[in-house]
Amino acid sequence: MSIFSNPEFDNHESVYAFTDPKSLMRCFIAVHNTKMGPASGGTRFWNYADDEEALSDALRLSKAMSYKNALAGIPLGGGKGVIIKPKEPFDRKNLFTAYGKAIDKVGGKYITAEDVGVSPDDMATIKTETDFVAGLEVGISASGDPSPHTADGILRGMEEAVKYKLGVEGLGGITVAIQGLGHVGYDLARRLHRVGAHLIVSDINKCLTKKAEQELDATVVSINEIHAQEADIFSPCALGGSINPDTLPDIEAYIIAGAANNQLSDSSIGIKLLKKNILHCPDYIINAGGIINVASEISGHYDRSWVSDKIDNIRRNLKEVFKQSELSKTPTNEVADNMARKLLGR
Ligand code: NAD
Repeated sequence: MSIFSNPEFDNHESVYAFTDPKSLMRCFIAVHNTKMGPASGGTRFWNYADDEEALSDALRLSKAMSYKNALAGIPLGGGKGVIIKPKEPFDRKNLFTAYGKAIDKVGGKYITAEDVGVSPDDMATIKTETDFVAGLEVGISASGDPSPHTADGILRGMEEAVKYKLGVEGLGGITVAIQGLGHVGYDLARRLHRVGAHLIVSDINKCLTKKAEQELDATVVSINEIHAQEADIFSPCALGGSINPDTLPDIEAYIIAGAANNQLSDSSIGIKLLKKNILHCPDYIINAGGIINVASEISGHYDRSWVSDKIDNIRRNLKEVFKQSELSKTPTNEVADNMARKLLGR
């Protein structure tokens, strides 16, 4: 396996691999850039097909964290931890204890929080081994699960997008197709239901779709059809890459706005979305609410109003991206990348 020739390698400052055979813990921690502060980004715990796939994910996601944190205006660099879920039976507490020890060895260059497959309980386990962890439920400035703040930011971003694209104030009567009803997706669905939006949803977990049908009056569709719904907004809130050459021709929505990181399977999809006249809200701008909340915890003095102001900044960032994209006829993902790279001096 080579790091430097991996297509996702982007002159990352450092990349670590740790193993603990006893607990079956195997992870990569990628530190992309620390210009703005210590690198931060959630830990992903996932069934990777092989080590190469896990490494690529760590490299790609840590770069996106650098861009996200820079544009969110928070004093954090970009990093990401990925743990390869063991195929054999394992003890979760032992595994996350070993991972906490690994993070501690990175010596504060990387501060972790929750991402896919990881809970606040896992953060508490990590905390037994290191102070370089946030998204905790208890502690002096503990901020808890970042997901509701991510959903909050997405809702505000959606409001900005419908105003820009459809000339509509608010999300009442708007139809949103949500792919994935996990921590962020379900919270977002609740918020949208509260403001009078119509919901179409899908998830591989049937309990979640049933719940949304009963609680939120959502229409449930299969995971293979969610992207192709006649909705105003398509909201990818599962894993990355759901906007790809296979799904693109079927996307009917006017706007794409969701939580998933790396929604475009590759950056060239951006120009195709522009040609289809679909407004894509760059993922790392619209899903920054959670890391903004984490940043306040990391500062040592959790400040709710600072968090809310920074989350509201998502609107301004999106507006700027939409404007520049329209003026220069450049896809929104490229405009956002250029803005972030400028801030990072890259
Ligand atoms: P989660 O694991 O709680 O939820 C993901 C959901 O997607 C699960 O319910 C899962 O069953 C479902 N799913 C998986 N594959 C699917 C498919 N093909 N079709 C439909 N549903 C599918 O994760 P989360 O914390 O809600 O995060 C969702 C996405 O948002 C991830 O890409 C994550 O990286 C990103 N994100 C999360 C946060 C946060 O605060 N949690 C912040 C920024 C970005």
